[in-house]
Amino acid sequence: MAYSVAQLAQWSAAKLIGDAERTVEKIIFDSRKSFSSEETLFVAIKSTTNDGHSFIAELYDKGMRSFIVEADCAIDYKKYPEASFIECTNSIESLQSIAAQIRHSFSIPFIGITGSNGKTIIKEWLAHILEKTYKVGRSPRSFNSQIGVPLSIWFLAKDIDFALIEAGISMPGEMEKISTCIQPAYGLLTNIGQAHQENFESLEQKLDEKLKLFASAHTIFYNGDDAMINEALKQHFPDKALVSVGAEPGNNLQIVKTETTSGGTSLSLHWKEQAFTLQLPFQDAISIENSLLVALCALNLGVSIEILQTEMQQLFPIAMRLEQKEGINNCLLIDDGYNADITSLGLALDFLNQMGAKRGLSKTLILSDIQQSGVDATLLYQKVLRLAEEKGITKLIGIGENMFAAKEGLNAYQSTEEFLEKVDVNTFKDEAILLKGARHYTFERISALLEQRRHKTVLEINLNALAENVKYFRSKLGKETKLLAMVKAFSYGTGSFEIANLLAHQKVDYLGVAFADEGIELRKTGISLPIIVMNPELSSFPMMLEYELEPEIYSFEVLEAYLSAVQRQGLSRVPIHVKVDTGMNRLGFLPEETESLIERLHKNSSVFVSSVFSHLAGSDEAIHDGFTQQQINCFTSTCQQMEKGLGYGFTRHILNSAGIERFPEAQMDMVRLGIGMYGVSVVDNTNLQQVNTLKSYVSQFKTIKAGETVGYSRKGRSNNEMQIAVVPIGYADGYNRRLSNGVGHVIINGKKASVVGNICMDMCMIDVTDLNIKAGDEVEIFGTQLPIKAMAQQLETIPYEILTSISRRVKRIYIME
Ligand SMILES: *Cc1c(COP(=O)(O)O)cnc(C)c1O
Repeated sequence: MAYSVAQLAQWSAAKLIGDAERTVEKIIFDSRKSFSSEETLFVAIKSTTNDGHSFIAELYDKGMRSFIVEADCAIDYKKYPEASFIECTNSIESLQSIAAQIRHSFSIPFIGITGSNGKTIIKEWLAHILEKTYKVGRSPRSFNSQIGVPLSIWFLAKDIDFALIEAGISMPGEMEKISTCIQPAYGLLTNIGQAHQENFESLEQKLDEKLKLFASAHTIFYNGDDAMINEALKQHFPDKALVSVGAEPGNNLQIVKTETTSGGTSLSLHWKEQAFTLQLPFQDAISIENSLLVALCALNLGVSIEILQTEMQQLFPIAMRLEQKEGINNCLLIDDGYNADITSLGLALDFLNQMGAKRGLSKTLILSDIQQSGVDATLLYQKVLRLAEEKGITKLIGIGENMFAAKEGLNAYQSTEEFLEKVDVNTFKDEAILLKGARHYTFERISALLEQRRHKTVLEINLNALAENVKYFRSKLGKETKLLAMVKAFSYGTGSFEIANLLAHQKVDYLGVAFADEGIELRKTGISLPIIVMNPELSSFPMMLEYELEPEIYSFEVLEAYLSAVQRQGLSRVPIHVKVDTGMNRLGFLPEETESLIERLHKNSSVFVSSVFSHLAGSDEAIHDGFTQQQINCFTSTCQQMEKGLGYGFTRHILNSAGIERFPEAQMDMVRLGIGMYGVSVVDNTNLQQVNTLKSYVSQFKTIKAGETVGYSRKGRSNNEMQIAVVPIGYADGYNRRLSNGVGHVIINGKKASVVGNICMDMCMIDVTDLNIKAGDEVEIFGTQLPIKAMAQQLETIPYEILTSISRRVKRIYIME
């Protein structure tokens, strides 16, 4: 749908400046996303970390012409004579008002889904089942925020029978706003748990807030066995139809019996005087609970028991995230095999660009027919072609009837079978390939052929979580405080380009590396942020100057060597960073050397002091707080002395991650964030998101007799018959040998299991007696279920050592939710 800017201004009660005739079809609020300028509206949003208004000039230069801006940002409209501006007081609220108006143009029922967990999976499953009977629109991925909900409504097709919209909140006051956009006739409450609890006083308060979504609903679906939910709903909504599922009598959909079967679960249910069974392909309690809410809602909306039985049997785990995999012939593979719609295609192409850029691979898109009702097929394919071109795709392969019909400009095949038959996958070489297919095209068959399978132990790095953690630490800082992100030692074991690129997008001010080589590697992959080298070798100075890497200067010897390197290249006013040793007793000038240092630097035109910094020795432990304060005081007075002596100011910084959390008052001009953004906090890990998961697979499962031994030196002994799993991770991967013989444990299928015998170089054995394990099952070494901190404790070390010890042969896999 296209809307005129005049219409949008009117809907949001805002002022329009510039051409009123212009129409827009798409919305973006992230300036990094590419766009087709003519028909896109940029919404400038101010957040704690970023201000969209600061990108307007850049976007205008690129051809963008329609903007929503906030009045108090005082944009100088004269500078943008061809643009149309919708000027409002709050951009997000305007977006919400616009969505509320668009919502009014629909006369079909909306289903609003909220709750702590499971919103997206329930929405996706429900959509899948309802689609057998109805035309359904839904929020893309997990677009459920203050911005995500309005966008979801903007993107809805017109000719649908139901709209499924998720709504998530993180603080009081938010639900009322998005509920006005959704106005659901039906509400679905997934559950209430601890997620996003930090801004709420209690679970009850959060529940009350969530229930605001249902103000306009006539019917609410929920888990009737949850006493708190049951009571709250009855109290708030005595006049609405409350429809529940649960084992207790009185639930509308009653669970009579639950049985675990070989591949899943069999449920005996009772619905409106009818008894029937459902087979689910899962065994875990959460998936079962989610499926039952889906069944409840679908039955109520008129889906037949037969359809439900067929479809529920084949519910699939949903890949709600993008994952980068190693492909054959130096290809890189991104597998997005669930959805095919224009919005998520745009997101996936952005991820492809971000990941593929590193190795300079050419870009390929394998795309199935797009399922988007209400849009003319020819137009839709023109759009796809344009989008692919904008994002630099050089090879586009289409699969499906529509793709085949719209064949111009692409290689097309009528079906996945035809593709598999006719195409030799070995012709793919040095390409970054995005596989994007709607579920029933079963693109997993293509991905299985394109994926390189070797060593199956991987370190999975969640880039969204890393970005969220950066945001969390930013929230502790003043607006002016700069952020240096530490990416030394292969970004604490997590990667180089991938992490630096993400941090550049997060607009950090500096990167910190330990050695010049690390900085050079980043420059070669196109990272242009300022980089400080903490531990520069004297011999690397010429290269550092060439690559514009800035040195930490920690002694007179280093200073002299650097000055001569600078002079030899005829450079002047090159930045340096002076390290002061205030008590760590590692690198740095001693405070008493300050005067001589000033003397050497005063009026020196080769270099200038860009920053002065020091490092805290015990910022993470309360027993050292007195000492930390002393270090801070000593640093402050050294800086004063330097500033006076040099006659100019510089950036001052002393805090590391623990310092930011525990001594935010000492943030000065900049902080140096390290371990915290990788997901480890010394204060309270619940503030941070899990970034790293080390995982492997069961390569063999076997049963051994009582009295037999396991592994080298026959250290593992079985008193009774024992079942063991062989897992391909050993000390050469960084799985520390001191975790042998029951010291360490792992998680397999959600269950804890101990290491048996000695850990070998490339493998270890795990006692999985009675855990119902089979070859191929996933094994978590550390991650969400087994915190890295717990593993560090078992080893009497710190998480830093564990992360940086994971060997380079362990594949790093990046995911983006
Ligand atoms: C590694 C390092 C940091 C970051 O420390 P974290 O504890 O990981 O936050 C900060 N400053 C210097 C000088 C460092 O070497």
